[in-house]
Amino acid sequence: MVRRTVLIDRELSKDDLIVIVGAGGFIAGALTRHFHELGFSRIRAIDKKPLQNWYQRVPGVESSCLDLSYRENCTQVCEGATEVYNLAADMGGMGFIENYRVECLRSILINTHMIEAAYQAGVKRYFFSSSACAYNTELQKDPHVRALKESDAYPAMAERGYGWEKLMSEIFCQEYWAERGLKTFVARFHNVYGPYGTWDGGREKAPAALARKVIEAKDSRNYEITIWGDGHQTRSFMYIDDCLQGIDLIMHCDDLIATPINLGSSELFSINHLVGEIEEIAGVELERKYDLEAPRGVAGRNSDNTFIKQILGWEPKTPFHEGMEKTYAWIEQQYVDRKAGKPTPAGDPEA
Ligand code: NAD
Repeated sequence: MVRRTVLIDRELSKDDLIVIVGAGGFIAGALTRHFHELGFSRIRAIDKKPLQNWYQRVPGVESSCLDLSYRENCTQVCEGATEVYNLAADMGGMGFIENYRVECLRSILINTHMIEAAYQAGVKRYFFSSSACAYNTELQKDPHVRALKESDAYPAMAERGYGWEKLMSEIFCQEYWAERGLKTFVARFHNVYGPYGTWDGGREKAPAALARKVIEAKDSRNYEITIWGDGHQTRSFMYIDDCLQGIDLIMHCDDLIATPINLGSSELFSINHLVGEIEEIAGVELERKYDLEAPRGVAGRNSDNTFIKQILGWEPKTPFHEGMEKTYAWIEQQYVDRKAGKPTPAGDPEA
C-alpha cells in the first residue's frame, strides 16, 4: 500500500529536548521511537513502571522510572524541555476502566502537575492524550451510532471515572492557553491497537484481548472463544502508526491550539466482525460463547473525521486487516516467549 507523506513543520531543532511521559506504555513507547527515528537526539522518556517492564526501550533515549502524580517529579521531568507529550494515565480496556474508576480519576494528578510544570519550564508546546470516552454516553446507546463529532462532548455526560478525568484535563489544557498562553494540543483517541501494547493481565483492550484468546484456543486445541457482551457492540480501531502520525500533525498545527480533535479510524464494525478478522489471520474458526455479564462499554462508538480532514487534510487510513496481522504476529511471539519462560513486558504498572 502506498502511503502519502504529510510534511510537518515542527519548528524544532534536532537537539531540542522532547519529553514523553507514559513511555513505558504502548502509545508513548511508540512515540519515543518515532521521534528517535526522525533524528531527534534529546528525548526524555518517563514512566512509573520499572524499566524492565517497558514495551519499548529505545537506545540513546534518557529513560527513567518516576511517578508523575507527584509535583516535584513533574518539575524535574519538564526542566529544559521544548515540547512535552503527556500520555501517562492509569488506564486499560473496559475490564479495567469499569472496575477501577478511582484509579482512573486519580490520573488527573498527572496532567495537573505536568501542565503546570511544563508552563513553569517555558515549554513551547504541550500535548494531552484524551479519549473518545470523554463523549456524552447518551449518544452511544445504539450499535448503529452516528459518528461522534468534537462538539458531542457537551452537554457533558462522559464515561464514569476515566471519561470525566479526560474531560477535566482537557479543560486544564484549554485554560492554560486562554489564561497563560501555553500552546496546548488535545487529541481524543479512539481505540488504538498495534504491537508493543498490553495484551494480557486485565488492562488489555478488545483487539489484543481477542487476539490472545484466539492464540490460547489454538495452543490448547480447545477451539472456543468467550466474547464480552453479545458481540454486536460496534467500535472503530486505529493502527498505532496512524496514531503517531496524527499526534505529530496535531501537535504542530497552530490552528488546533487548545482545540480537542478526534484521532481515530472512521471504519466502524462489530466485535463479532473483529473476531472474524482475527480468526482469518490465525487460520482457525472458533465456537463463540457470549458473556453477557462482562463489561462491554457503550453500545456503539465511531469517530467523525470531518474536522481532522478539514484542518489537516489527513485521517487514519491503515486497513484493519493489515494492522491486525502485525499485531497478531507480535502477540503470538510474546505468548510463545512467555511460555518458554523468557521475560516479557507487563501492562500493569505495579507488576
Ligand atoms: P498504557 O497503559 O500502555 O500507557 C500508559 C502508561 O502510563 C503506562 O505505562 C503507565 O505505567 C504510565 N503511568 C500511569 N500512571 C503513571 C504515573 N503516575 N506516573 C508515570 N507514569 C504513569 O496506555 P496507552 O494505550 O499507551 O495510552 C496512552 C494514553 O492514551 C493514555 O492517556 C490513555 O488514556 C490514552 N488513550 C489510549 C487509548 C487506547 O486505545 N490505547 C484510547 C484513548 C485514550
